[in-house]
Amino acid sequence: MRIAILAAFMALLTIGGTACADNFPSHPITIVVPFSAGGPTDSMARILGERMQRSLGQTITIENVTGAAGSLGVGRVVRSPPDGYTVSIGHLGTHVANGAIYKLGYDLVTDLEPVVLLPSNPMIIVSKNAVPAKSLKELLTWLKAKPSPPTAGTAGAGSGSHIAGLYFENATGIKLQYVPYRGTAPALNDLVAGQIDIIIDQTSNSISQVRAGTIRAYAVTDDKRVESASDIPTTDEAGLSGFHMTLWSGLWVPKGTPKEVVAKLNGAAVEAMNDPAVRKKFEDLGLQMPAPDELSPDALGAWQKAEIAKWWPMIKAADVKVD
Ligand code: ASP
Repeated sequence: MRIAILAAFMALLTIGGTACADNFPSHPITIVVPFSAGGPTDSMARILGERMQRSLGQTITIENVTGAAGSLGVGRVVRSPPDGYTVSIGHLGTHVANGAIYKLGYDLVTDLEPVVLLPSNPMIIVSKNAVPAKSLKELLTWLKAKPSPPTAGTAGAGSGSHIAGLYFENATGIKLQYVPYRGTAPALNDLVAGQIDIIIDQTSNSISQVRAGTIRAYAVTDDKRVESASDIPTTDEAGLSGFHMTLWSGLWVPKGTPKEVVAKLNGAAVEAMNDPAVRKKFEDLGLQMPAPDELSPDALGAWQKAEIAKWWPMIKAADVKVD
């Protein structure tokens, strides 16, 4: 008897879920950006969201929930109803590294449902203009010679810019003093103002300031140059051979979101990334589009797990302290 009641209840839940999924989306959707407005994650969310709302027929609003390297914003999505109306945008930092650094109170794999892999971004090594170096080699010499550790802006312990900094310390033996912000948008403002020495930043964030001549770029952390900024050498060309890091991004929803809803969000995001006008905006920012076979929710899930296996040992070994 109890089993029959339970089965009837489950059937009702399923019907309810399907009905919801059929109507999805019937009201506005929120994408939670876990970093400051105007930064690289925010820009990507706004470009994507603007085009996705055309496919979905609903408004998409962006909410910036910042702090603790994006882990607060991701937590806000984990605790939202699993109905597809609250979407998490994040990257290698928020959805991989943070799990090795913070006591999150949620599991990055089992509490979230992957939706789609988004474009990736090589990092760029940039300094304030007052640094006298003209090449990466000269920058390394200048950083090494500094009597106190050079300051490096980050979006918090575990953010993309921080992981890149740890990797840079490993590769060069240069000790950095990290200055955390709520996103690399405010970090970049301070670099332009000369308050900090360097950022190993997402190319999409720094590129317009580099073009404006307000900061100096030394290399992109990839084996090929960024098409829209082809005058900037790669780390291989500039003397830091093999120093490669690409920050990929993605979308997730809370665990238990109906498959049909995930599929609709996925379809809208893929449509957006296939739109030539959107591609142009992304490519101008130095972003690289994912390959067609990387665009399913399962592909993002598998990729995220592989990245956790790859990065957690290095991050745990760095014994990053958070307050
Ligand atoms: N993606 C972050 C931002 O939007 C920065 C980071 O991860 O370093 O500010």
